[in-house]
Amino acid sequence: MNKKLFVISGFSGVGKGTVINRFMQKHKDFVLSVSCTTRKPRPGETDGVNYFFLSNEEFEKNIRENKFLEYAKFAEHYYGTKKKYIEEKLREGFHVILEIDTQGALQVKKKIPEAVFIFIAPPSIEELEHRLRGRHTEDEETIQKRLSQVSIELERAKQYDYTVVNDDVDRAVSEIEEIVKKSE
Ligand code: 5GP
Repeated sequence: MNKKLFVISGFSGVGKGTVINRFMQKHKDFVLSVSCTTRKPRPGETDGVNYFFLSNEEFEKNIRENKFLEYAKFAEHYYGTKKKYIEEKLREGFHVILEIDTQGALQVKKKIPEAVFIFIAPPSIEELEHRLRGRHTEDEETIQKRLSQVSIELERAKQYDYTVVNDDVDRAVSEIEEIVKKSE
C-alpha cells in the first residue's frame, strides 16, 4: 500500500472512537496516533495511551520548536500531532490513523496531500446531540460549544475524500475497509 496515513474526523459524540477501535482490532498493521493535548484526562484515560497530556507551556514550546505536523485549538484546549511520532510509526511499517479535528486535518492535507481523508458523519444532527448528552462526561456549556461547531465542521467535511455515515458500527467499519482497499 503506498498511502499509509489515514486521517479520520467527525463530530464529537459521533462514535468515531468505537468505529476506529473496531477497525483496529481487525487490522493489526494499523496504529492509532497518540496526540498531545492540554485538556485534563477524563476518568479512565492514561497519559501516553489516550493522549500525551501536556501543560500549556509545554505545548506552546513544542509549537515554537515546530514539532507538530498539525495542531489546533478546540473547545479552548490545544490538540496536536507530533511529527516524530508519525515518522517513527511509519518507519516501523505501520499504517497510521490520525483521529483529529477538521482544522488539523486540513493542515495535514496541505502537507501530505496523498493521505486519505475520511469524515465520519452521524445519521442525523438530532442523533448527534442525543449521543453527546448520553455520554454524561461534559457540562452543558461544553456541549453547547461543541454543538456550535457543527456547521463549520460540515463545511470543512466537503474537502475530505470520503464521508462514512455511522448508522451501524459494523457497516461503517466495512466501508472503511473498502476505502483502505481502494487506497492500495
Ligand atoms: P476529545 O477531547 O473528545 O478527546 O477530542 C476533542 C477533539 O479533538 C476531537 O474532535 C478529536 O478528533 C480532536 N483531536 C484529538 N487529537 C487531535 C490532534 O492531535 N489534532 C487535532 N487537530 N485534533 C485532535
